[in-house]
Amino acid sequence: MANDLEISRAATLQPITDVARSAGIPEDALELYGRYKAKVNPALVPRRAERGKVVLVTAMSPTPAGEGKSTVTVGLGDALARAGQKTVIALREPSLGPVLGMKGGATGGGYSQVIPMEEINLHFTGDFHAITSANNALAALVDNHIFQGNELGIDPRRITFRRVMDMNDRSLRHIVVGLGGPGQGTVREDGFDITVASEIMAVFCLATDIEDLTSRLARITVGYTWDRKPVTVADLRVQGALALLLKDALKPNLVQTIAGTPALVHGGPFANIAHGCNSVIATSLGRDLADVVVTEAGFGADLGAEKYMDITSRVADVAPDAVVVVATVRALKMHGGVPRERLDEPNLAGLEAGTANLRRHVRNLGKFGFSPVVAINRFTTDTPEEVEWLLGWCSQEGVDAAVADVWAQGGGGPGGDDLAAKVLAALKRNVDFQPLYPLQMGVAEKIRTVVREIYGADDVEFSVPALRRLEEIEANGWENVPVCMAKTQYSFSDDAAKLGAPEGFTIHVRDLVPKTGAGFIVALTGAVMTMPGLPKQPAALRMGVAADGTPSGLF
Ligand code: ADP
Repeated sequence: MANDLEISRAATLQPITDVARSAGIPEDALELYGRYKAKVNPALVPRRAERGKVVLVTAMSPTPAGEGKSTVTVGLGDALARAGQKTVIALREPSLGPVLGMKGGATGGGYSQVIPMEEINLHFTGDFHAITSANNALAALVDNHIFQGNELGIDPRRITFRRVMDMNDRSLRHIVVGLGGPGQGTVREDGFDITVASEIMAVFCLATDIEDLTSRLARITVGYTWDRKPVTVADLRVQGALALLLKDALKPNLVQTIAGTPALVHGGPFANIAHGCNSVIATSLGRDLADVVVTEAGFGADLGAEKYMDITSRVADVAPDAVVVVATVRALKMHGGVPRERLDEPNLAGLEAGTANLRRHVRNLGKFGFSPVVAINRFTTDTPEEVEWLLGWCSQEGVDAAVADVWAQGGGGPGGDDLAAKVLAALKRNVDFQPLYPLQMGVAEKIRTVVREIYGADDVEFSVPALRRLEEIEANGWENVPVCMAKTQYSFSDDAAKLGAPEGFTIHVRDLVPKTGAGFIVALTGAVMTMPGLPKQPAALRMGVAADGTPSGLF
């Protein structure tokens, strides 16, 4: 079979003006970026009285064997469109760091992709550039404030706002700036994060409009004064400049799937130290354009879906009406103890052992009010016995399930019909959505609730620095916001090696980071990387471009 890039390049692209017309986007709301990409100005799209429903695609705990959440999100969107539903897909924008490092593309796979994949994966419409610029403008303004006399009394040792770039570059994690003498600024330790880890990215994706963006930017804490008082962007009076740098980027990007379904690809925060979803502006726009919006949350349901419910759904009117959990036979076998190199062999015992992981995710979603639909993302190595067994297991557990053969067949073909039918049935059910905890609950208690109810941990343990930070958070009156758990995606625990559904463990919170602009408190467990490195054999090694501009190696 052809690879993702070859498949996407062989697809016929419709002019984006046609895609926009079929989505009902008024002509004056469309801002063209070439023939196949456009930005949409939500202010010029009429509000619908009955807004579209939201389907959230999440997954069991990821493994290196691959789950294919984006692939299923695109395939399901296409399948719903094929079933006659007016559908829009909402996805995150890929980050260049992982594209050149591990992942290749992040636009779905096989015949379920958003296109033009190479443009979306590379510089797209420049949103990440705008976010990087706004972030680094703020960093420069902080250093300049200190250089110019430091009226606010910022302690250079307590600046928390770091520089960013959209690249995996471990050598920039810890740096010293201001070297070279008194004319070059104040010497201090600094560092770079990857752009998707910037608080400005999180703010960008949670803002409901430009005014909300500006007030969230104003609330970002950049550091502390000599007497430990927080210093915000509002104190520096630069929220207007930052919002200006982001004003065009804030309009969602319109592209299409291989089958021609409209897709809004916009924003892309990390799923560990941030909430891991495309912008709420894009999802809300989708609700005004279509009957159904299919969107995806990063990592497994313990992280992505929990944050979608407890963070994203509280800031905007985008709470899910139905939830899909992607599972694969391969990943289940891995959670059942089968080694990675033996996943291609049939193994019903391994599969059965791995279902413990899926069961916990499904039960967890019940705590938010959902009976999810399990989507079995079919791989060519799955045997019919394994797939049948898994369907039987789901039915015994009383869980709706469907095989999604959308990678090989494309969501425009019959491979997603069964999943689409099950999702439409789920959308007819009444959902009593509720977040897991009330915002008034104490920060430590919110974290304890997540680790007990969602991860299945016995308890949570806070390090001494985390306890000190907790006191600061309370003293500053920052506690009435959701918590954003930064934990390994591979396990319910904070140990990536504990697969399946571990029991009898404690979650260790090593630090808490208040993100006062985004409006959540990050709880760091284990080693969480905000600036990834490149692997020994980065994907970049296989990439190239032919004389006529044809790219290669992007998959
Ligand atoms: P996620 O969103 O969970 O990270 P993606 O949808 O991006 O996963 O898929 C990751 C990779 O796995 C892609 O290269 C995609 O082509 C591949 N993939 C996904 N589903 C399948 C499948 N059913 N068969 C083979 N490869 C698949």
